[in-house]
Amino acid sequence: MISRIDLRGSLPGDLRATLPRADFDVEAALEKVRPICEDVRHRGSAAVREHTHAFDGVELERTRVPVEVVHEALATLDPAVRDALEESIRRARKVHRDQRRTDTTTQVVPGGTVTERWVPVGRVGLYVPGGNAVYPSSVVMNVVPAQEAGVGSLAVTSPAQKGFGGRPHPAILAACALLGVDEVYAAGGAQAIAMFAYGTDECPRADLVTGPGNIYVAAAKRLLKGVIGIDSEAGPTEIAILADATADPVHVAADLISQAEHDVLAAAVLVTDSPELASAVEDELRAQVARTKHAERVTAALAGRQSGIVLVDDVEAGLAVVDAYAAEHLEIQTADAAAVAARVRNAGAVFVGPHAPVSLGDYLAGSNHVLPTGGCACHSSGLSVQSFLRGIHVVEYDEAALAEATARVVTLAEAEDLPAHGAALKARFDWEIPS
Ligand code: NAD
Repeated sequence: MISRIDLRGSLPGDLRATLPRADFDVEAALEKVRPICEDVRHRGSAAVREHTHAFDGVELERTRVPVEVVHEALATLDPAVRDALEESIRRARKVHRDQRRTDTTTQVVPGGTVTERWVPVGRVGLYVPGGNAVYPSSVVMNVVPAQEAGVGSLAVTSPAQKGFGGRPHPAILAACALLGVDEVYAAGGAQAIAMFAYGTDECPRADLVTGPGNIYVAAAKRLLKGVIGIDSEAGPTEIAILADATADPVHVAADLISQAEHDVLAAAVLVTDSPELASAVEDELRAQVARTKHAERVTAALAGRQSGIVLVDDVEAGLAVVDAYAAEHLEIQTADAAAVAARVRNAGAVFVGPHAPVSLGDYLAGSNHVLPTGGCACHSSGLSVQSFLRGIHVVEYDEAALAEATARVVTLAEAEDLPAHGAALKARFDWEIPS
């Protein structure tokens, strides 16, 4: 059901290439999404609707969901789901509010300051996936940091669903209403990203698009980066678990299955120095997968080349492996888990010890679940308030401070053969370099 990779002895030089990873070739998908994006650029919402018909099997009259429909979805939401979503929003808000930035002013020299002013992006488009599963939780994870950053204009898009009158799933609409977002579109895939990037007759263009999605969403984000700002690529979900003999195989197997449930391309990787734990987890996987609702999808994900059990000599070697892998979600289930977790360098989010499973982070920990995948955690972060802010440097120098800087600016400008740069300062002092 799940393969083993034995790295006991010595770790290979190119560790990253040895580790299991999904066949998620975004570059190849670029050629598929390019014509879709071009079509939306030239024909606007008519093109969005046509591609929605082609890929989602839904004929739309308009891509924008009427505001009354968004509000009705909240009125008919199951009270237990409403309660859970409200608590999820409360906890996420608490964490993300603490991420707000304050402006800093640095006195560089007497009379010369640089202030870093944090300014929210003007308008953002938030992508909420809706192919295999629907994710009202991703509405929370996108909207809360954007709101806490102070973004003025927020629009959510999610794929049109056949069973729901061509609208996004009602739970997604209800989550939007709970968060006070009433600009919602029924569009998914590359056409949705292009809609935000170029704008259409129904949807004004956005400055930034964020949110997870499948390979077409990732490819469209990569293609249109620059036309629109993007967050990190958040593709098929990944869980890595670093565990030793103290871990409970029942919990380890359940946590691997919980993420394999997302997608046949989802990755579930156990890294352990305990062959006994590895065998016990394999037994547990067989037993638990047989009982799980999406057994077929889970089996495909666990058997895929992106999943596996990696055997190592010790926790030290395990740390090297998980750092090379740079998982979206990393659980540490070892003795002294907090100390081990503190040494992790590369992960989207780290879940420490037996009482912090990834599923908690998916919904209710307060942390964000839109996280970098495919190894991008070695250079990118998950979604946060920071994703929706820009730092603007504000430079203020008085005459004396400028005079004091002039000789060095002129020297550097001449060294770069850009004498007009130096001249711009000299002009302020009647062309004499102040002494
Ligand atoms: P999705 O909304 O990303 O994609 C569905 C859309 O893909 C459809 O609307 C359709 O327009 C488009 N599409 C489908 N087939 C196509 C084709 N052949 N050509 C062009 N476009 C096509 O939903 P999904 O497919 O369920 O994927 C969601 C992904 O997001 C999963 O991989 C899941 O693991 C991931 N996810 C990641 C995170 C994270 O933070 N990393 C969080 C939640 C979900």
